[in-house]
Amino acid sequence: MNGSLLLRNARLLDPATGEYTEGDLHCVDGRIADEGPADVRTLDLRGAVVLPGLIDAHVHVTALTADLGSLPSTSPSYAAAHAMRTMSQMLDRGFTTVRDASGADYGLADAQAEGLFRGPRLLFCGRALSQTGGHGDSRTRGANAREDHPCCAGLGRVADGVDAVRAAARDELRKGAHHIKVMASGGVASPTDRIDSTQYSADELRAIVEEAEAANRYVAAHAYTARAVNRALELGVRSIEHGNLIDDRSVELFLSHNAFLVPTLVTYWALKEEGREHGLPESSWRKVDDVLGAGLAALERASRGGVKLVYGTDLLGGMHRRQNHEFRLRAEVQTPLEVIRAATTTAADLLDLTGEIGTLAVGAHADLLVVEGDPVEDIGVLAEPKNFRHVIQGGELVA
Ligand code: ZN
Ligand code: ZN
Repeated sequence: MNGSLLLRNARLLDPATGEYTEGDLHCVDGRIADEGPADVRTLDLRGAVVLPGLIDAHVHVTALTADLGSLPSTSPSYAAAHAMRTMSQMLDRGFTTVRDASGADYGLADAQAEGLFRGPRLLFCGRALSQTGGHGDSRTRGANAREDHPCCAGLGRVADGVDAVRAAARDELRKGAHHIKVMASGGVASPTDRIDSTQYSADELRAIVEEAEAANRYVAAHAYTARAVNRALELGVRSIEHGNLIDDRSVELFLSHNAFLVPTLVTYWALKEEGREHGLPESSWRKVDDVLGAGLAALERASRGGVKLVYGTDLLGGMHRRQNHEFRLRAEVQTPLEVIRAATTTAADLLDLTGEIGTLAVGAHADLLVVEGDPVEDIGVLAEPKNFRHVIQGGELVA
């Protein structure tokens, strides 16, 4: 039977408690089950650890280069071919679900779901909404014509004014967006904005949140500074991406609004190390320092304050191979178990897939990772994919 598998002699990790149970795990029809037929494929794990397949809530699977300005003139079919390879490699790194934070569309998500290529389950938002001159506007100062026509491979779409942002949000929802992404502050990889700028007026942000909520979806906002983050939270944004420069007021707002923070530390680490080799322009490379050091301090502040934290990486181009290094970076200020929850249970909550993924509970998708070593003792087990023995997706051995 497809999607059926028996894992024997496993150490099963419950990320919610950090406790192990020794025993067997049945996968039936792609789901975790109480019991199953005996005549299915069986793996004797001899005491290896099984945990839920990992979730990365901030990726850009179509970002084939760190030179984001070149994406709008890239052929969509070329970008799709790159994305399929990138997603296949994500699966090998133990990620069985990813949330795309702009760029991926329904075509890629449908193709993955139909099994046309191997890769993690893909939750997409389409294009990120950006104001003129915002983080999603990839034009340099000298360029006037916009290249963000609907069929190009860019990550953002520019919309200004309440009516236009409403229409843009509705258009992404029409195409099946799982969430709406907005650029609510400046960023690193954009040519003309400043990290400390806020982007979009309160009226525009409010309109976008209203459209997302009307469709029972939510808004994820790119934002760095406390000023930008706090304003976005007050206006109803549910997921803050990056948040490197948050303050104590931000922590209060995360709690009172039941919002999530998705730090992406590894991208700054990777951009600093090797961004220029991968096409990041010099002007963007110089912005990295502003956010790199602050990121860990922000994570520590949020973690101490009880903010719901979710695993994100935000890697671009050839830097995708660093995806698991985020585990090691976060473990500088958090326990391994806290970091594991960010990539399993808490991520599932953010994605509105509680009980479906990120858990070994009966009924959940049988998306699993089998590793050598104890990740609760040593986060290095998850930071290095060489420790992964098997990746299982919907009850099928895929790596
Ligand atoms: Zn961003
Ligand atoms: Zn991003």
